[in-house]
Amino acid sequence: MTTSWVDGAASSGFDVDHLPYAVFERAGEEPRVGVRIGDLVLDLAPVAAADMLEVSHLFEATTLNPLMAAGRPVWDSVRQWLTGLLTDETERDVVEPHLVAVADVTLRMPFLVGDYVDFYASLDHASNVGRIFRPDQEPLLPNWRHLPVGYHGRSGTVVPSGTDIVRPHGQRKAPTDDAPTFGPSARLDIEAELGFVVGTGSTLGSRITTEAFADHCFGVVGLNDWSARDIQAWEYVPLGPFLGKSFATSISPWVTPLAAFDAAWVELPGQDPEPLPYLSAGATRGLDIEVEVVLNDEVVSRPSYSSMYWSPAQMLAHLTVNGASTRTGDLWGSGTISGPEPDQRGSFLELSWGGKEPFTAVGRERTFLEDGDVVVLRYSAPGTAGGRITLGEVTGTIAPAL
Ligand code: CA
Repeated sequence: MTTSWVDGAASSGFDVDHLPYAVFERAGEEPRVGVRIGDLVLDLAPVAAADMLEVSHLFEATTLNPLMAAGRPVWDSVRQWLTGLLTDETERDVVEPHLVAVADVTLRMPFLVGDYVDFYASLDHASNVGRIFRPDQEPLLPNWRHLPVGYHGRSGTVVPSGTDIVRPHGQRKAPTDDAPTFGPSARLDIEAELGFVVGTGSTLGSRITTEAFADHCFGVVGLNDWSARDIQAWEYVPLGPFLGKSFATSISPWVTPLAAFDAAWVELPGQDPEPLPYLSAGATRGLDIEVEVVLNDEVVSRPSYSSMYWSPAQMLAHLTVNGASTRTGDLWGSGTISGPEPDQRGSFLELSWGGKEPFTAVGRERTFLEDGDVVVLRYSAPGTAGGRITLGEVTGTIAPAL
């Protein structure tokens, strides 16, 4: 793998071993499909048209959905075409007029979200939450090691990075309270996750096997599953998360294609007991993606996705094993990424142990989110060229309750 002729692309986290897609907008123009190289975004439609690319119409859209629906052979051939354009100096005259500084554009929602499912695939996170929410019981419920636990979330409130998060109102009742009260959440939190995006869907009545994962998964986004713990703790029994989660889920504007992770696959830490056969075959690979949770410019946690219990292929196989169909733009979250160490916890709930053990950030003791807090989730992974790729950030600022 060579590097791009674009100045600054080498070692930027955005060389030709990455090539994430986004939808960007310049003032007064329609949103457009672009791919990132270094600190620039390439406007794909005019370059593809000039090159008479057979699939150039896929880029004449205001979302990535047409490209995502085109399927693995097209994703691979477009990636090969882009690599050629951006590494071959003789293409420079054709390409350069269509490069725009990322700093000069606004990034939009990259794709139209279909259904949204969120899993709970970290053993450390599920164990920590069990201990905090149900201190007198076994932390893991009996099903947890047999299936990837998940719930259907609200796709209409998935928002792009940078969207302010308004503190939600809701009902909450602490165990010591006699009756529920209503008001702004006092225990607003983050969940550092990854999101996996369905490119080509599947029909009602069919299953996506673990082996078919790469034919259906287009790519990966950063994801923050904002969570109101006080609302969640009161409402979640017996049917699971609802209004404590559905007010907002942020994703990165850049979608990293699955092919960019070819050097990042690692074996899962191990599954015991052995899962049922539909979850077993060829599915025990996770991704070596490092995560940083940044609160007001200070890194407060460094979880690693490589420590997760359930793999992305197992999650997709499980969510279609009953014959549920999938469509382009469906999104599934990994679940909070927490590792075994205290400084690898992917939520403030865990970092502050339910609010009882404040952690220090920017010189102060902290528990849950305060108005004005800025949270940034950063992600990186080994690239195929020997360096690291930098996934799209997910940022959000907490705005006061309305
Ligand atoms: Ca979650």
